[in-house]
Amino acid sequence: MSKKIFLCSICNINSGTCNEDCKFCSQSVRYKADIERYKQKNMELILQEAKAAYANGALGFCLVTSEKGLSSKTLEFVCSIAKILTKELPQLRLIACNGTATLEQLLILKEAGIKAYNHNLETSKEFYPQICTTHSWDERYETCQNINKAGLVLISGGIFGLGESHKDRISMLKALKSLNPASVPVNFYHHNEALELNPNPLTTDEALKLIQLTRDMIVDADRIMVAGGRELMFKDRQSEIFSYGANSIVVGNYLTTSGRAVNKDLEMLHSLNLEVAKSVK
Ligand code: SF4
Repeated sequence: MSKKIFLCSICNINSGTCNEDCKFCSQSVRYKADIERYKQKNMELILQEAKAAYANGALGFCLVTSEKGLSSKTLEFVCSIAKILTKELPQLRLIACNGTATLEQLLILKEAGIKAYNHNLETSKEFYPQICTTHSWDERYETCQNINKAGLVLISGGIFGLGESHKDRISMLKALKSLNPASVPVNFYHHNEALELNPNPLTTDEALKLIQLTRDMIVDADRIMVAGGRELMFKDRQSEIFSYGANSIVVGNYLTTSGRAVNKDLEMLHSLNLEVAKSVK
């Protein structure tokens, strides 16, 4: 039986409006990156994107907002989208990614049809103060605990290539393991010239080993998902990620950068004799 690859598509509901100072993020208003910025994507457009994602084989559809957490207005909007999408596309697994969240807020999202919540630890607890000063790593960890308590599927991972040490990577992976996530997104830092953070980039071989390290350390996770930075990091070696433990990818565009055409990814999977997953635990 060939290995099944879970495809996930992401939808940026609002873009570039965040007041936090995460040094890797072009969506922070502090860094004035040249990205598209908008307060709220039109509901009809979100529905079109979800239909296109499903038609392309994505089972996961992630509703992302660029704010520190869930304001009551955002919560209401995400719930209303979730209700519409649940009715129109019941086969899609709806994921929310809306920053720090209380147990109560997560239960409201669950009630509206959200099945999973993505909240990354980003990096180690020790290194986190060097990449963000406006909120703490502990808050991030607590939101992940709330996701588990709410009975939502936990999706939590991080970003490599921020200038962190190997010790930091091990520390983050241990923390992730302790949360027992079902899916672990592995992102690779993509430098934007507006961002001050500009460490030495990882090599492709290092990045492949980090996918393997993630797979080996979080053995119970159903999926290791290669997310942001895939095309730039691996270029013509993207097909190698699957032999290093990845079994999920983000397809289509990322939050503020373009991904490659989905048919290129589907061709790649086909050429590797990998199947697109049609169902998910
Ligand atoms: S909280 Fe999220 S959206 Fe805001 S700056 Fe940090 S990573 Fe970017």
